[in-house]
Amino acid sequence: MNSQDSFMQDAFSMATSAIALGEVPVGAVIVKDNKILARSHNLCVSSYDPTAHAEILVIRKAAQLLAEYRLIDCDLYVTLEPCPMCAQAISFARIRRLYFGASDIKGGAVENGLRIYSQPSCFHAPEVFGGIMENECGEILKTFFQSKRGYTKTHP
Ligand SMILES: [Zn+2]
Repeated sequence: MNSQDSFMQDAFSMATSAIALGEVPVGAVIVKDNKILARSHNLCVSSYDPTAHAEILVIRKAAQLLAEYRLIDCDLYVTLEPCPMCAQAISFARIRRLYFGASDIKGGAVENGLRIYSQPSCFHAPEVFGGIMENECGEILKTFFQSKRGYTKTHP
């Protein structure tokens, strides 16, 4: 397993642990010097915080840990293409590289939707690598939402 896959695997286990809390299974880790600095998953429901997406939480943790307000030379791994809020926060944090798992055609804002990093208002764009462990990262979300809707069988 290469290091990209192993860091995404770690983000994926964070996503998995979100399920027990009734949180949308999205997980993220921040890596610096080939080591994981911080890990998190969505916590909107249990923390009564609509902004508690995995990326926001992991950026906050890493910044606190480094006592830096910019995460220079840090890479962020997240299981789902970031939404507009997170994509912008990743830019503000000066994240070096963004690795994401599944694409989010409706809610994503990196390769879909607003394409935050292509906007003239964007001062820092990370290098983007999408589609890492795409299937696993997408399936866990699909299964989660199907169970929320009370479906017991997979749709054709
Ligand atoms: Zn988000």
